[in-house]
Parts: sequence; structure tokens; C-alpha cells
Amino acid sequence: MNVVHQLLSYFLPQGCLSCRSVLALEEEGPLCPHCFKEIKYLSESHCSICGDPFPHEEIASHVCGECLSKPPPFEWARSLFELEPTLAKVIHSFKYRGSEVPLPWFSGEIAQWLQQQKLLVDCIVPVPLHRWRLLQRGYNQSLLLSRSLAKIMKVPVDDQNLFRKYYEKPQVLRSREERLKQVTRAFEVKKASVFKKKKLLLIDDVYTTGATLRDCARALKKAGAQVYALTIARTPLRTG
Ligand SMILES: [Zn+2]
Ligand SMILES: [Zn+2]
Repeated sequence: MNVVHQLLSYFLPQGCLSCRSVLALEEEGPLCPHCFKEIKYLSESHCSICGDPFPHEEIASHVCGECLSKPPPFEWARSLFELEPTLAKVIHSFKYRGSEVPLPWFSGEIAQWLQQQKLLVDCIVPVPLHRWRLLQRGYNQSLLLSRSLAKIMKVPVDDQNLFRKYYEKPQVLRSREERLKQVTRAFEVKKASVFKKKKLLLIDDVYTTGATLRDCARALKKAGAQVYALTIARTPLRTG
């Protein structure tokens, strides 16, 4: 968000990030009460490691077949919400248009959830962007979220030690082989000693296949850390 936008957003009444209706002064946003009703918290019935929701609410949480056969490098991965169209609009404006309006809501929800889990971490680590992507976009949304969360949790953020080695070309420009190579070994840690024996909270905006989080967690675990991966949203349940 540039300076003009920031100034305008300070003086103009805030609009709902989904339906664009003007919010009343006492409404905190980023959505109007009607759109807030569309937001879906993820079910409590999920894989206790990867966090994938089970198709039926009544199934008790347990380790899914995929995690049993190939344990992921994180202790667990969780997401707060399902990525349905309303939340997708909020995340899009945060990720691609630099709107910081939803940040207090996101970080407040995450902090509250972590408190319920009684999880204490040593450090928050955002999923990094490659430096060229950072230059193009101007900010890393996962870092913004991490900083906002760190203020509430009083925990440091480390956005220097984990880095992305490969520049991500847009998916459509990449060959299948390139895609596989880039998502499986794209991240590395500069100084392993910094993360050794640390409990780390790895932060990203959306969990789609989990490939990015797994790759980050692989590098962090190699450095001797315990990794807890958390995203705001998860794409709806994959069927079949
Ligand atoms: Zn609305
Ligand atoms: Zn699983």
C-alpha cells in the first residue's frame, strides 16, 4: 500500500473487503457483519499431523494414512479457516494489493487459537519470498502477518535465516520437471546453529498442497528445529 492509499484509508470510511459496503464506525472490519457470517472455521475433525480435515465431523482426529506412510517434517500443520470465496477476497487484497486492513483480525485470531493450544514457541518464521519476487511485490505478506502476530505474542520474528534459493516463475511458465524441483528443494537455512533446538512457528497465508510448508519445514528441521506450521486458510477438502 503506498502513502497516498494509506492516507486515504485513514480519512475515508472503510469498506467491506468482500461486498464493498461501507462499514459503520463501530465495525472493525475487514468484513461487514453479513460477510463475516460466510467465514468458516475449519472442523475439529482432522489429521493430527497435517491438519487435513476429515470428510465427516464425527470422525475423531487421528493421523491420516498419508502422514503415517510418509511423516512430514513438521510436528503439525494447522489452518484457521476454510478458503471459501469471501475469505479468498480478503486474502487476495492482503496478498496482492498490499491491504493491511485485515492484519489485526488475522493475527488476533491466530494468537487466540495458539493460546488455546498452549503452544509456546521461541521464534516466528515467515515463509520467505525470493528476493526478486520481493522486489516486484514490495512486501512479503507472510512477514507482515508474522510481525503483527509477534507484537501480540511477544516473540521474535526471524525473516533472515530461512531463504528461498530459487526464483519462482509463474506456474504456467514452468515445465513439470522444473515445478517439482523448485518446490521440493527451494528453501535453505543460512546458519543452522540459530535454529538448533528451537521451537519455530512457520507462518504462511494459505495451505494448498502443503508442499511449500513441507519444504520450509524440511530445511528448518535439518537445522535442528521443531516446526509448527500455521496458515490463515486452507483450500477446501480434496475429494477422491
Ligand atoms: Zn460485506
Ligand atoms: Zn495427515
